[in-house]
Amino acid sequence: MATKKKQVARELLFGDFWEFDPAPETAPAGIADRYGLFIGGEFVAPKSKKWFDSISPRDEAKLSEIALANEADVAAAYAAAAKAFPAWSKLPGAERGKYLYRLARLLQDRAREFAVAETLDGGKPIREARDFDVPMAAAHFFYHAGWADKLEYAAPGRDLRALGVVGQVIPWNFPLLMLAWKLAPALALGNTVVLKPAETTSITALKFAELIRDAGLPPGVVNIVTGAGETGAAVVRHKTAAKIAFTGSTGVGKWIQRELAGTGKRLTLELGGKGANIVFEDAAIDQAVEGIINGIFFNQGHVCCAGSRLLVQESIESEVLRKLKLRMKSLRTGDPLDKNTDIGAINSKRQWERITELVEAGVSEGAEIHQPACELPEKGFYFAPTLLCGVTQSHRVVKEEIFGPVLSVLTFRTPDEAVEKANNTAYGLSAGVWTDKGSKYLAVASQLKAGVVWGNSFNKFDPTSPFGGFKESGFGREGGRQGLLEYGELE
Ligand code: NAP
Ligand code: MG
Repeated sequence: MATKKKQVARELLFGDFWEFDPAPETAPAGIADRYGLFIGGEFVAPKSKKWFDSISPRDEAKLSEIALANEADVAAAYAAAAKAFPAWSKLPGAERGKYLYRLARLLQDRAREFAVAETLDGGKPIREARDFDVPMAAAHFFYHAGWADKLEYAAPGRDLRALGVVGQVIPWNFPLLMLAWKLAPALALGNTVVLKPAETTSITALKFAELIRDAGLPPGVVNIVTGAGETGAAVVRHKTAAKIAFTGSTGVGKWIQRELAGTGKRLTLELGGKGANIVFEDAAIDQAVEGIINGIFFNQGHVCCAGSRLLVQESIESEVLRKLKLRMKSLRTGDPLDKNTDIGAINSKRQWERITELVEAGVSEGAEIHQPACELPEKGFYFAPTLLCGVTQSHRVVKEEIFGPVLSVLTFRTPDEAVEKANNTAYGLSAGVWTDKGSKYLAVASQLKAGVVWGNSFNKFDPTSPFGGFKESGFGREGGRQGLLEYGELE
């Protein structure tokens, strides 16, 4: 027994870890061979007569064929949404709430199937799809169902009126969850919706359309049009939209802002980030290391609020890096359908190429690269967890969003220097502060220009908590009362 304990201690210390047997998730994903557009309460063939393949980044296998919506298809979706708006917005809030509760429960009923589909389509580890994406998506519907009949408390003394038809465009990193963030508040307030998921991850949105149909939502209240950037542009431009809600890259966000200037359409933008995770010498180091790991490797680092810049106090740099490298050795990168996998597949070949290009640029600019030894599957898109040390504020890997499992490490000496470096970015979405002193946390957090600042934690989310950016990370909030108000007119 004593020997076994020693063996375990040795392995923890030297990273000589035991092999894990494969633990594949085997539940069916319920993915159809082909999906039409969801317009007016039913799946319809696209007027474009065009379809595209959806593949799995796990092994590059084709999963399904998805309709490619052109301008005429988008116009049909807006017409259906406009037709549904008067009756839906006039329904008593309690009635709209019933539909939202129903959607939340239907999603819970099919949670496992949705988790498998999300993992297959997007590449995230099944553990995360199962324990985070799907339950959080249901939680957003439950939360907003609760608001639907209490809108007079959301804006006391004022009348809160639906805006009309809302156009929503979402990215590929949390496909189902972003759909929930967008649909739930819009519907609670009585808006109707045209939503476009990202080209590489449309499947769970289309499966959600089945729930919308099963919940008996009046036809046209939610319409889902699939396609790539051009379809998104058609959603943004259509004259019927009273508001556009966009989550995606800062580049596309800027284009949308220019496009909408002078149209009177409302706009919220949730864009990129380059979050600082600040670790002070008085922090609980082991917890901070877990927080750093979670901050950058959760969802392969495809997280807009990822803690992608580690700012560590100089006095503890070597200890933190030693522990971080040891912890990185125990991360399992590979098949996202395996329940033991920590880091799954990169969402697309294009994103894999972007990560590779940026990391190579970092190395050629002098970064010291550290990657634990790991065997990556031959097929599919995989990238080993990566640490880039010896970098400065001017390195591309410190300035640009990599959106992958890559952490850049910087050091600081004083709290002022930490704040200055953390704020030295065009973005302002998130930050983390690790310290044993509550007063230090409050002093530092209040100076950080970021929409969310976590204290001794990272990547924690809740439907009641508003989320959004400063500077080039966008404007407007999602979640909480603040997020709800973005979908209404105050009178
Ligand atoms: P993206 O290229 O901006 O795409 C986002 C969505 O917009 C996709 O559905 C995309 O369609 C669509 N789109 C592309 N060009 C468009 C155009 N001209 N007009 C209208 N829609 C257009 O971003 P991404 O690469 O998919 O997502 C990663 C980025 O999103 C990262 O920068 C990340 O930080 C950001 N993000 C931010 C948040 C947040 O809450 N702040 C959350 C998640 C992600 P296709 O993909 O089908 O081409
Ligand atoms: Mg896919």
